[in-house]
Amino acid sequence: MTNWKVPLADIDLDAEDLRAVVDVVRSKWLSMGPVTVEFEQCFADYIGVKHAFAVVNCTAALHLAHVALGVGAGDTIICPSLTFVATANAIRYTGAMPVFADITSADDLNLSPDDIEAKIDASTKGICVVHYGGYPCDMDRIMSIARRHHLYVVEDVAHAPGAACWVTLPPSTSSTGDGVVKKCGSIGDIGCFSFFANKNMTTGEGGMLTTDSDAIADRIRRLRSHGMTSLTWDRERGHSFSYDVTDTGYNYRMDEMRAALGLVQLRKLAANNQRRAEVVNIYREQLAAVAGIATPFGGHEGVSTYHLFPILLQDDHLRPAFMQFMKDRGIQTSIHYPPIHHFSYYRALMPDTQLARTEQIARRLVTLPLSPMMQKHHIDHVIESLKLWRMKAL
Ligand SMILES: *Cc1c(COP(=O)(O)O)cnc(C)c1O
Repeated sequence: MTNWKVPLADIDLDAEDLRAVVDVVRSKWLSMGPVTVEFEQCFADYIGVKHAFAVVNCTAALHLAHVALGVGAGDTIICPSLTFVATANAIRYTGAMPVFADITSADDLNLSPDDIEAKIDASTKGICVVHYGGYPCDMDRIMSIARRHHLYVVEDVAHAPGAACWVTLPPSTSSTGDGVVKKCGSIGDIGCFSFFANKNMTTGEGGMLTTDSDAIADRIRRLRSHGMTSLTWDRERGHSFSYDVTDTGYNYRMDEMRAALGLVQLRKLAANNQRRAEVVNIYREQLAAVAGIATPFGGHEGVSTYHLFPILLQDDHLRPAFMQFMKDRGIQTSIHYPPIHHFSYYRALMPDTQLARTEQIARRLVTLPLSPMMQKHHIDHVIESLKLWRMKAL
């Protein structure tokens, strides 16, 4: 693929993935059909929700989510700035405005529940959380804030298929304050997953929207497919001969080749997430001895999917030389993320946004390579390089 000794991310693709796609191509039914239906059912079962909708990508899932929950111009949605820009763009598609809330701390890069609450006003309609790097947000507190203020919650689960956390059951279903462990994407009103090529499971481009609500599911089913009341697949099976159009819907459907790949990738997901955990454990053990490099989420309590391994350098001015040093040693690093409110478009849109912790931390963040394909010698090479850089930098 590239000449990196240790690439930032790598995909688990084998003969089984290939065979699944070839079988679909041979069948000659390429657009949404039985394989996609099976993928959706398996994914819904895995996440623990009633409904899952396969879509073209996570950005489309996020767009559908905000449309289905009924926001538009004049409304605001609270979301993080330390995330991929699609989280905020999808809110803008509806005419609504994102309002960025700060991260919790240098150790917890997820949305601060306190800052979410501080940013709520009369225009707030919902919260879009992102489980950064695969580490679940404090969903217990965030859901309780949302319930108190009658806000909807969309989960951007692009990093976290398989992640889970403890949440108190809502007062309507339990009077005793009991709790359960729930998977990310089954906690808020809607979960949005990404199967882009660098995510924990991939279909090339692809995404999934999950919900437990029948009413939301009805809206999503139509919005995903031109606002039509029946699908080509249903008509093919003789379930209906005509259709009505009830909305200005979109064409956000996944195709059968991607769904076939997704089914195989889903089967391998738990083992690959486990392998990521093992890599991160070695990283953390080894890096504990390297001064001047902090590793966020060290004390995190939820079940993570270890999508990213971010480190924090002592000083932001060290970052360009550090990334160049790693590059020279064949190690690909990245930055997750340049804060969204610093991009030209969002600066012009909301010039007054200030997020002290996000700004402070984002300047010092570097993401190290992490994938289930990493071998011991890859990890050793990264660790040795970090130690070498520390000796030179001191
Ligand atoms: C990758 C990503 C997206 C967008 O996913 P696509 O499937 O590429 O549209 C959205 N949010 C986050 C946090 C992401 O990492």
